Amino acid sequence: MAVFPDAEALACGIAAKDSEKWERLAQVRAAVLVALEQARAAKAIGGGLEAKVRLHANSKAPGLQELLKEKLSLLPALFIVSQVVVDPAEGNGLLPSETLPGLAVKIERADGKKCDRCWNYSTHVGENTRYPTVCERCSEALAEIESDATAGVAAT
Ligand SMILES: [Zn+2]
Repeated sequence: MAVFPDAEALACGIAAKDSEKWERLAQVRAAVLVALEQARAAKAIGGGLEAKVRLHANSKAPGLQELLKEKLSLLPALFIVSQVVVDPAEGNGLLPSETLPGLAVKIERADGKKCDRCWNYSTHVGENTRYPTVCERCSEALAEIESDATAGVAAT
């Protein structure tokens, strides 16, 4: 019986830690959105999917750099941009965020070409000769749809 409160406390602890992480990422997102808006106003990019976001967090935001690296694969979807890079150091034209102390941001044009299907930019567009106008994720999805379709035909 005594195990339950412990397990519960543990679960709560993990949840609290996780929600704190997401709260910090929401602050990063807000800072990135400001930078994206400025880049759009300056006509450096047309929309978020044309952007590559470079980020670096310094010691004024303890643990943030590690958090960004940990969640890097989720960041493009969170910011609704094509690419995100966590730079190992400041410089490189990164500007300190006005809303989040310790974070520096730079918006660049995304690498690669625009995918016809999802509009994300990817350096892998054109690599798949079967689907030359889409990105690597979409060519995978299209191949899956196609194999499902052939399977359906074969079954009838
Ligand atoms: Zn795509």
